[in-house]
Amino acid sequence: MLGATLVILSLIGAALYVAKIGTGFTLVFIGAVLFMAYKRLPLIVFTLVFTVLLAAYTFVPPAYGVWKGFLWVMLATLWLFNIRPLRKAIISRPFLKAYMRLLPSMSQTEKEALEAGTVWWDGELFTGKPKFEKLLASKAPALTAEEQAFIDGPCEDLCRMYDDWDVTHKRADMPPHVWDYLKHKGFFAMIIPKKYGGLEFSAYAHSCVLVKLASRAGLLAATTAVPNSLGPAELLNHYGTEEQKNHYLPRLARGDEVPCFALTHPRAGSDAASLPDTGVVCRGMWQGREIVGLKLNFSKRYITLAPIATVVGLAFRMFDPDKLLGDKVDLGITCALIPRTTAGLSIGRRHFPLNVPFQNGPLHGKDVFVPLDTIIGGPKMAGQGWRMLVEQLSVGRCISLPSNTTGGAKAGVFASGAYTRIRRQFNMPVGKFEGVEGVIARMVGYTYTMDAARSVTAGAIDGGEKPSVPSAMLKYHVTEMGRQVANDAMDVHGGKGIQLGPRNYLGRGYQVVPVAITVEGANILTRSLIIFGQGAVRCHPFVLKEMAAARNPDRKQGVDQFDSALFGHIGFTISNAVRSFVMALTHARFTHVPEVGETKRYYQHIVRFSASFAFAVDVAMLTLGGYLKKKENLSARLGDVLSAMYLTSMVLKHHENQGRPVEDLPIVEWACRNQMYKAQEQLHDFLRNFPNRFLGSVMRVLIFPGGRSYSAPSDRLGRTVADAVLNPTEARDRLCRFVYRTLEPGNPLGLLQEALVMAQTAEPVEKRIRVEGVKTGKVTALDVPGQIAQALAVGIISETEAAMLREYDRKVMDLISVDDFEPHELAAGAAPEADAGVVSYPGQVA
Ligand SMILES: Cc1cc2nc3c(=O)[nH]c(=O)nc-3n(C[C@H](O)[C@H](O)[C@H](O)COP(=O)(O)OP(=O)(O)OC[C@H]3O[C@@H](n4cnc5c(N)ncnc54)[C@H](O)[C@@H]3O)c2cc1C
Repeated sequence: MLGATLVILSLIGAALYVAKIGTGFTLVFIGAVLFMAYKRLPLIVFTLVFTVLLAAYTFVPPAYGVWKGFLWVMLATLWLFNIRPLRKAIISRPFLKAYMRLLPSMSQTEKEALEAGTVWWDGELFTGKPKFEKLLASKAPALTAEEQAFIDGPCEDLCRMYDDWDVTHKRADMPPHVWDYLKHKGFFAMIIPKKYGGLEFSAYAHSCVLVKLASRAGLLAATTAVPNSLGPAELLNHYGTEEQKNHYLPRLARGDEVPCFALTHPRAGSDAASLPDTGVVCRGMWQGREIVGLKLNFSKRYITLAPIATVVGLAFRMFDPDKLLGDKVDLGITCALIPRTTAGLSIGRRHFPLNVPFQNGPLHGKDVFVPLDTIIGGPKMAGQGWRMLVEQLSVGRCISLPSNTTGGAKAGVFASGAYTRIRRQFNMPVGKFEGVEGVIARMVGYTYTMDAARSVTAGAIDGGEKPSVPSAMLKYHVTEMGRQVANDAMDVHGGKGIQLGPRNYLGRGYQVVPVAITVEGANILTRSLIIFGQGAVRCHPFVLKEMAAARNPDRKQGVDQFDSALFGHIGFTISNAVRSFVMALTHARFTHVPEVGETKRYYQHIVRFSASFAFAVDVAMLTLGGYLKKKENLSARLGDVLSAMYLTSMVLKHHENQGRPVEDLPIVEWACRNQMYKAQEQLHDFLRNFPNRFLGSVMRVLIFPGGRSYSAPSDRLGRTVADAVLNPTEARDRLCRFVYRTLEPGNPLGLLQEALVMAQTAEPVEKRIRVEGVKTGKVTALDVPGQIAQALAVGIISETEAAMLREYDRKVMDLISVDDFEPHELAAGAAPEADAGVVSYPGQVA
């Protein structure tokens, strides 16, 4: 890398020497041009300054030469670019023709999907010059008194009444009283407006409720998330007819109806838009009279809540072969609401998702005839299903899975900090060993990042955004970080995490992780195809404009629009190349960002990576075009760079939202460093794998002129970060906000916190026993109770201290113990009382 830079600098030097150009003025000239490009001055300003400089330069001896000749040609070109009619005729129009040939055709459905949602902070990151003032000015998300009361009241009660072992092992379902509580206390109605009887919570409050429930159990959170996510309530809210809203929303809010949404077909999983389920417009008998309706044939699987649902949201492809509704035969993907009792609907069987048996199952329909007004939004919304789904996915995907996974991670880190402090090996808390410390630091850093991403993005939704690209970034990265935290929590707990039973608070969370990875866009696909693929078109400041210009049926207008976009784009790319180079050389030290104190450097690093990223994106799109979509690994890496910048921005904003607590700074630093390091490494891998080696090298000179300079968080920083959760600190409390930690017998997290607080007092006394007793031979017992007794007897500790240590030791032994069973107790179906609790639902198929 450094070699390439030196070669280029030598070539420039040699050229200057041969041309005998006054070096001083040349440097001023080059500096001025770079400055103008860096600052993105308008083309006309750039041209005028260039003209003046070149005129002055002409008097620097020698008056002419190859180099100056080249500059005069450049000046002529610049002036040509300033004469719009001329540049349109000889550049933009022919370019547009070629562009239109390359542009893949796009169906209305694809177009709508691409345009769904809004562009938010993701758009700024594509500019190469993100304006942080905009992000910092947005309001910090906060709970209303009513929302806070819901979290402190019903959520707390629900967590208390929920028994994960009973649910996951004995019943394979929640007991009726928990179902009732969920339905009737509004847990399924967080997104339903108040006028229909719902809670109408903000996105942030909705997210916080899920975090809390997930900290208690994945099953509880998954069950609650689904009716509040992409499904009947959400679709009715936005697209339903008044009649449908008035009928269904109050019933859903009261819990009289349980919804599910069925899109996935055995043949259409990730490629859900290719679903072969059909709805054919035809005449049929409905409630004793002939009407025009839909004959549905479908087969769905993996549908959450389907086994107990009373109303099914169904996606199918609608056809009108007899043209009963109009001229179109293939109307496209459509969504309808089908009551469970509809004849021909077969529903009720269950899948068994990874030992976390939330209600999930298949459903089938054979010649199911329903009226047209079962279509969500009525017949006029026929064929609008895909747009509806994609639009609403941009919101739901930011909330459900990110919140559930963050809740699980918070619980994992809360438990691990305490457990590794009270669990001793080699006479030390295991959390104090460097190896374990590094793992805990990662858990803390990831959890902070996840929490920041979910809460700041939820705040943006409450501010009116429907961020579709961030929703994909959160879906992928938060669930992947959650997977890592779940693994780490298991590792630092050793055997305690592995032995399932009522005392195990990690095992089910660990088992359920792949569900979050798979649903709402499986992760490999989301990373490889969606994040960058959608971002490049949606967020790029010029690409969508160029595409719109190319598709404009008014050719004259199209050329005008294309011309503006094209020349804007050229200037943008040149500027980003210059900015990337300059900021890489200076480590972005002089880059302007808001005055934010200690975290300022991270803002500057984001700006630097933004310029490098935007430049790399343009080179990739220009040279690879549509082929970039097939090069999934390249797209994925660009998506990773974008995500790293996004997540770092969320961390910084979250820190601001929390009032910049000083104790959190090491965690913030760890999280930012980790993401920025990832951005660098992914950009490096992108360049290493770029198909055109020459262009790859040119990009490398402009992006990493001094090589890779960013390092991952240090061990020392890791130690400070781990310490924050190995002690009952404010940073730990903030990080683990909303974790269900009430001190009561059935809640291991509350008990762990209690023991952690006690450890602070117990450890110095234990140390005294070791130093003054064990090492001097006054205390010879091998077991802790024996040591306490001897230390008391020889006067090393007082009676009060001995009592405290006994109590502490009792609590520790209780917390580190695991379950064991009689062999027959583990056989499935062995618990007779479980059968008694199984609920049957109306219309359930045997
Ligand atoms: C527990 C659970 C609950 C669910 N709940 C619902 C529900 O309520 N309603 C509903 O409609 N559906 C639901 N689903 C379905 C879920 O959305 C699908 O499982 C998901 O879309 C993936 O489809 P698939 O499982 O068929 O995987 P496949 O499509 O077979 O994919 C297999 C693998 O290939 C990868 N892949 C596929 N295409 C590409 C590509 N172009 N590039 C890179 N990688 C690719 C995927 O990422 C995945 O890793 C649920 C699934 C589960 C497991």
